[in-house]
Amino acid sequence: MDFAIPADIELKLRELDDFIEREIVPLEREHPQYFDHRREFARTDWEHDGVPRKEWEALLAEMRRRADRAGHLRFALPKELGGQEGSNLAMAIIREHLARRGLGLHNDLQNESSIVGNFPLVQMLWTFGTREQKERYLRLDGSVRIGFGLTEPNHGSDAQYLETTATRDGNEWVINGRKRFNSGLHDATVDLVFARTGGKPGDPKGITAFLVPTDRPGFHVDFMWWTFNMPSDHAEVTLTNVRVPQPAILHEEGEGLVLAQHFVHENRIRQAASSLGAGQYCIDESIAYAKERKTWGKPLAVNQAIQFPLVELQSEAEMLRGLIYRTAWELDRKHHMEVTHLVSMANYRANRFCCEAADRAIQVHGGLGYTRHKAFEHIYRHHRRYRITEGSEEIQMRRVAATMFGGFGRAREA
Ligand SMILES: Cc1cc2nc3c(=O)[nH]c(=O)nc-3n(C[C@H](O)[C@H](O)[C@H](O)COP(=O)(O)OP(=O)(O)OC[C@H]3O[C@@H](n4cnc5c(N)ncnc54)[C@H](O)[C@@H]3O)c2cc1C
Repeated sequence: MDFAIPADIELKLRELDDFIEREIVPLEREHPQYFDHRREFARTDWEHDGVPRKEWEALLAEMRRRADRAGHLRFALPKELGGQEGSNLAMAIIREHLARRGLGLHNDLQNESSIVGNFPLVQMLWTFGTREQKERYLRLDGSVRIGFGLTEPNHGSDAQYLETTATRDGNEWVINGRKRFNSGLHDATVDLVFARTGGKPGDPKGITAFLVPTDRPGFHVDFMWWTFNMPSDHAEVTLTNVRVPQPAILHEEGEGLVLAQHFVHENRIRQAASSLGAGQYCIDESIAYAKERKTWGKPLAVNQAIQFPLVELQSEAEMLRGLIYRTAWELDRKHHMEVTHLVSMANYRANRFCCEAADRAIQVHGGLGYTRHKAFEHIYRHHRRYRITEGSEEIQMRRVAATMFGGFGRAREA
């Protein structure tokens, strides 16, 4: 066993740090309102359903353009798409590193925008798309933006019971139903809509994924759900007799949930690494502050009541780092379904760890910790979301239980 971080990944981290200092930090300094205590207000268009402001998204797009020009944005993508086929292990280490730097334009997790992109839908299209679908939808210049519509008003964790239907009419499919928390729908050009085309409610088979252009008649964004962290692009969507042709099917008819699994595994391990990095940032900041802040004439850091909770968190961080790196390494070698339980363990524990670390950082920083002038409230609110959205904690625990207990633990959810 060799636990050293591979030299090429170490080198990449140094390159990324240099790039951030050279090209991203100056841009960030020109627009302080998106990163200081005003960030949530500056980023949100409160008068238009709380969606991201165009100026904020334009700044993120400029960050991505610079990262692409420097050869970082597509790091994890296939060579044919201009990428470098960066491994899951490299991505985990990079994601942790970027989040550990704290909030910034280099890595806006709320928007899933980073100098090293996480493109699960691009990867999915690359793996499962037809030649025509790839030509039409695989564009990274912002001209194609794809949403992911699985969750519905009556079904989230139990997606295999979803109620949206697609029925065949000649060479077309007619889709009817509703989607909830369909992210990215403030400007998505296409939505990947999951609908039942066969089987009965509860069957994992019989659900099909359709690439639906959002300008199709009958496709309607009803409103955005305002969330703990704003802005929001998490839409309620109604589909009424939306017609799409047969080639709109991604992968095979009835096999849509295979795509959902692919999507969440890519996301879960990277999310776990981001949570680890953000939580580590909270610990690092707390230690630095405790050494500097004096109460009763002595540094806060001399008190074991300050030290021990941070010791507990650091111990958790070290254990998670081992688990996340190993799981990413396994994902590079095995089919993702073989290590699904490890991905789930890493994800739910890392997300929980990050929330605990942010909460502790608020405590160590006292009143200052509670203000928006520190980043901990933002980190807490964002990573709290991860404990629900990529398959909630409980659903991931069911997945682990299914591996541990065999037939006694049922986990057919994504
Ligand atoms: C900000 C945000 C963005 C999102 N983006 C998207 C998106 O882009 N596309 C998309 O399709 N969905 C998206 N979602 C939806 C998300 O995936 C679901 O909210 C999530 O899967 C949970 O489903 P639910 O909300 O219906 O909760 P439910 O399934 O109703 O569950 C409620 C609670 O009960 C728990 N629970 C459920 N069943 C069990 C059980 N058997 N045992 C123990 N506990 C159980 C759950 O863990 C949860 O805590 C988003 C959600 C949010 C909040």
